[in-house]
Amino acid sequence: MTSESTHAVVLGASIAGLLAARALSDTFDTVTVLDRDDLAGTGVRKGVPQGRHAHMLFAKGREVLEDLFPGLTDELVAAGALTVDIHNGFAWHNGPRPMARAASDLIVLAVSRPALEDYLRARAGKLAGVEIRGGLEATGLLHAPAAGTVTGVRVVVMGAGPGGATQDLRADLVVDATGRGNRGTTWLTELGYTPPEQDSVMAGVVYATREYERGPLAGGMLGVLTGVTPEYPFGAALLPMEGDRWILTLAGFGDDPPPTDEAGFAAYATRLPIDDLAEVVHRSRPLGPARQFRIPASVRRRYERIPGHPEGFLAFGDAICAFNPIYGQGMTVAALEAVELRAALEGGLAGLPRRFYAKAATVIDTPWDMAVGGDLTFPSVPGKRTAKVKFFNWYIAKLLHAAETSPEVAVAFHRTVNLTAPPETLFAPAILRRVFFPGRRS
Ligand SMILES: Cc1cc2nc3c(=O)[nH]c(=O)nc-3n(C[C@H](O)[C@H](O)[C@H](O)COP(=O)(O)OP(=O)(O)OC[C@H]3O[C@@H](n4cnc5c(N)ncnc54)[C@H](O)[C@@H]3O)c2cc1C
Repeated sequence: MTSESTHAVVLGASIAGLLAARALSDTFDTVTVLDRDDLAGTGVRKGVPQGRHAHMLFAKGREVLEDLFPGLTDELVAAGALTVDIHNGFAWHNGPRPMARAASDLIVLAVSRPALEDYLRARAGKLAGVEIRGGLEATGLLHAPAAGTVTGVRVVVMGAGPGGATQDLRADLVVDATGRGNRGTTWLTELGYTPPEQDSVMAGVVYATREYERGPLAGGMLGVLTGVTPEYPFGAALLPMEGDRWILTLAGFGDDPPPTDEAGFAAYATRLPIDDLAEVVHRSRPLGPARQFRIPASVRRRYERIPGHPEGFLAFGDAICAFNPIYGQGMTVAALEAVELRAALEGGLAGLPRRFYAKAATVIDTPWDMAVGGDLTFPSVPGKRTAKVKFFNWYIAKLLHAAETSPEVAVAFHRTVNLTAPPETLFAPAILRRVFFPGRRS
């Protein structure tokens, strides 16, 4: 499309697609966000099955979302979500051992994944020029081979009968935010482009989740999180949500998955002697059955390395990098990518993929290294343990031990997890002293 009016199409109206639309709306006259799901309802939908499971929006993610959609925190709190000091409000455990607590500056939003998405969809839909359409499935890209440019997307209208009705949507830019199962790389290959190299780590994580009626916990905490470690290769996240609900997600690996039957789920949740978990599974009223979800691998597609990437097309969010969810990074990374997309658009459309992917790669590098490093602490996970990975994991194990008695170390650790501080801060002299001489006063 070469008319004066500019149009972008975003494939996927989930968290990443909506954040991409927010970034694009500053530059494009019109932005169409489409999804194959019918978006009329609320709650968990077919295209986002992970919506049933605990989602933590980290402190950095909340800060960025608040910048993109001012008032978000207050409005979600008014609708029943909670703001929580992630370090001090939740009881963190390394296996069975609690971490030392102290007030921190890490304020997160405890809200269900569907409620957050519904909110973002409502806000994005009110932006000038943004239109959100459900019931349209993207099936391929339109292309001008001579110019090496993607010029739009082919869609099928869902429910339009056998074969469906096909439409071509012209666009100056197509953003693929169709998630971890995206077909963007196939589409590029079909058009004759080199697909991105793919880094994957087969951690084989399994979740099981159940919701309960929420009452106060005896110890006064607002939730419980236990770290999954080689010594204790299973964990739990008990988080409050809007609607006075608890969501309890159990995580394990493929050879020891959390079960969904009543007794099995309760037994798995209480493997660690944590009273708050026992209190919820034994005394709170369940609001439905437990459900399982398997996440075989983390996948990072190296779009930044493709030679001759077409203009007019970008992958975004989980379509670039889908993390092992136990590290809770996906939504925060999508938010940071939206900030980079907005900045990259200031340079115009020519060369946008190269500029955006270079910046997105720097956003992804740290959380990816943290997640892959974490996965490789488990002997069952295949992958190369470089000297750097071995050293980092050895140090983090010592640091987590120190975090059981030192609130400073525990908060420093959570700043890196929440992506508000780089991992180098874990090697600051004051932290090193506490890690290696835990009994000594500074
Ligand atoms: C079990 C689990 C737990 C997680 N926990 C956390 C967490 O605690 N914290 C966190 O930050 N992140 C978490 N994540 C990651 C988080 O869910 C994603 O990073 C986030 O939803 C952004 O993903 P996305 O928008 O890129 O893709 P998705 O959310 O997967 O959405 C893709 C969208 O594309 C649509 N779509 C797919 N194909 C087509 C097509 N051909 N045409 C049109 N539409 C299409 C789908 O309907 C869907 O709406 C978790 C993920 C999983 C799997």
